[in-house]
Amino acid sequence: MKWQHEDQGIWDKLEKLANEAEELAQEQLRHRDYVAERNQWKVIRSFQKHQVSDFHFSGSTGYGYNDRGREVLDEVYADVFGAEAALVRPHFVSGTHTIGTALFGVLRPGDELLYITGTPYDTLHKVIGKPGDGTGSLQDWGVTYREVPLLEGGDLDWAGIEAAIHRNTKVIGIQRSRGYSWRASFTVAQIGEMVAKVKAIKPDVLVFVDNCYGEFTELAEPTEVGVDLMAGSLIKNPGGGLAETGGYIAGTAKAVEAAAYRLTAPGIGGEVGAMLGTLRSMYQGLFLAPHLVGQAVKGSIVAAALFEKLGFETHPRWDAPRTDLIQAVRFGGPDHLIAFVQGIQQAAAVDAHVVPEPWDMPGYEHPVIMAAGTFIQGGSLELSADAPVREPYIAYMQGGLTYAHAKYGMLTALFQLVKRELVVIKPHTD
Ligand SMILES: *Cc1c(COP(=O)(O)O)cnc(C)c1O
Repeated sequence: MKWQHEDQGIWDKLEKLANEAEELAQEQLRHRDYVAERNQWKVIRSFQKHQVSDFHFSGSTGYGYNDRGREVLDEVYADVFGAEAALVRPHFVSGTHTIGTALFGVLRPGDELLYITGTPYDTLHKVIGKPGDGTGSLQDWGVTYREVPLLEGGDLDWAGIEAAIHRNTKVIGIQRSRGYSWRASFTVAQIGEMVAKVKAIKPDVLVFVDNCYGEFTELAEPTEVGVDLMAGSLIKNPGGGLAETGGYIAGTAKAVEAAAYRLTAPGIGGEVGAMLGTLRSMYQGLFLAPHLVGQAVKGSIVAAALFEKLGFETHPRWDAPRTDLIQAVRFGGPDHLIAFVQGIQQAAAVDAHVVPEPWDMPGYEHPVIMAAGTFIQGGSLELSADAPVREPYIAYMQGGLTYAHAKYGMLTALFQLVKRELVVIKPHTD
């Protein structure tokens, strides 16, 4: 089967634009190779230090006592993330479950959770819940919650944070990635500054970071700059496209143990848990993750450059520093948004024939349209796009196990916009 597009004339024009976007971002793309290379070496050295062997991949059944593969995987993750301990498990059903487990692990009735980076990711709203909501949410259990909104320009409101921290403030919550919001993601250096500042105000607070989408986009992780506890999903960055399910928690030994008691039971913690057949994909996924994250971020950079050329507002801009996978493009109208997401789906190797439509997803407060033609259901290190169908109609795209797929995806999405006459390609766009 030879490469040929159904409308080669238009495609050639779009491809030329994408090639120009690549040219423009040469320096940023080279930097991505550097970050991927260093993180790859870091992961390999950790595997070597812990003498990872074939027998670690076999997995256990039943209680899973003395599963060396599980124990070593925890140690490798802890090492790679510069943390004292880690808990890496297929028993976490999603990122939300993993984050919830970490928070429930360290918070007790009467403690306060204070998010300093504004409203957290949509699916966490119900984990936080309301007092007396009857769901067993944090607030239903008597943990109190407050958040300090970000300032207009996306900076932290330090006056507000200082005023909000009080005697019962136990956990400071930070979300590294933008999630579904039009704000900058926070770099690891910025997170380090936040840790220093909140601990200067109240030395005994625990700092928690929702690290979803951030892993391996920089040379260091939040746990290397003083964060006590962080969590993420294995069907995002660190699973390297291979992990079939799961999540990880990393941080201080004490905080990770508290989370492990919450995941299983007090007294049992992380010492039990059959890994079944999941270990090889978790190890190999972690091995591949730095490279795949590099491919995905390259896709985001070029997409930003391309859509900016066409007059759309993007966040982050193509030349801005990157600390997560997500590329937001503001479309300003539902038709553009839907065409874009449907175009991303059409570029998939899996389920390209399916046309996504907006729907009321569990955990989300607005209809959401999602393109996810993925090998792992909802796996978003794979090329995918999500968009809450609400003003101002922003699409969030992320992932791409290969850069070539990400490029094909942005071109196919653009092709849909052109075909539906939502974007007009001028003969001499520069
Ligand atoms: C994806 C994500 C989550 C939740 O993960 P799910 O696997 O969708 O439950 C939480 N926070 C952020 C920033 C995310 O990107």
